Amino acid sequence: MRQKIVAGNWKMNNDMAETEMFLVQLKKQVIPEGVSLMIAPAFTNLNHTYQSVKDHPVTVVAQNMHQSEKGAFTGEVSAAMLKSVGIKTVILGHSERRSIFNEDNDLLAEKVNTALKNEMTVIFCVGEELSHRETDNHFKVISEQLEEGLFHLSETNWKNIIIAYEPVWAIGTGETASPEQAQEMHAFIRKTIADAYSNTIAKNVSILYGGSVKPDNASEIFSQDDVDGGLIGGASLNVESFMKIANAF
Ligand code: PGA
Repeated sequence: MRQKIVAGNWKMNNDMAETEMFLVQLKKQVIPEGVSLMIAPAFTNLNHTYQSVKDHPVTVVAQNMHQSEKGAFTGEVSAAMLKSVGIKTVILGHSERRSIFNEDNDLLAEKVNTALKNEMTVIFCVGEELSHRETDNHFKVISEQLEEGLFHLSETNWKNIIIAYEPVWAIGTGETASPEQAQEMHAFIRKTIADAYSNTIAKNVSILYGGSVKPDNASEIFSQDDVDGGLIGGASLNVESFMKIANAF
């Protein structure tokens, strides 16, 4: 069940023309065998992207969704809306959502529930801030994010969960966690899941690393035992660098 995944989180980048340019190039690429390639465009481009890559082994992912099924939530997008345009995977708990949009663990637990109820797969992001690491609180913060966001789930829910470990201090900063730091935290995450559930569940969950992954550091990070791939921001906006990362296993 554990998969090799390279997922591009475009954030608030790429309008329709830029998205189309990316897709034209992407569709000319050979996608490496055994790697799940994913891209997460803005809401406005999800439908077009889904239609465009329908016959290619690329999964189109939403960057966020609302926790309610429908109703008076101006500006929000529901799970059913995503599914109606073919989207079955959603990123939840990205550190930008946590810090800029004040999404806390309780809210994220609700979003996870709504996504799973709608039979979607969740890429659930966890990550500590620099101050947490400097005060040696990074393991505590990550275990809290896991416990409060995910540990209410049933064992069967876990087949639809992918974890992304993204240390906040490494996102968009050019500073990457060292391969050893990534491995150490990924092993910790797996052990925390094993303790809360079982070894089988822990062994089968894909854990991605995110934070300044680039073509020149991807293979060292991906070669770590507990790193199953990456959630890529900046370097996913360019087809060439994105594909280099996809080929870095
Ligand atoms: P970055 O972003 O690769 O630009 O650091 C990663 C992310 O935020 O998912």
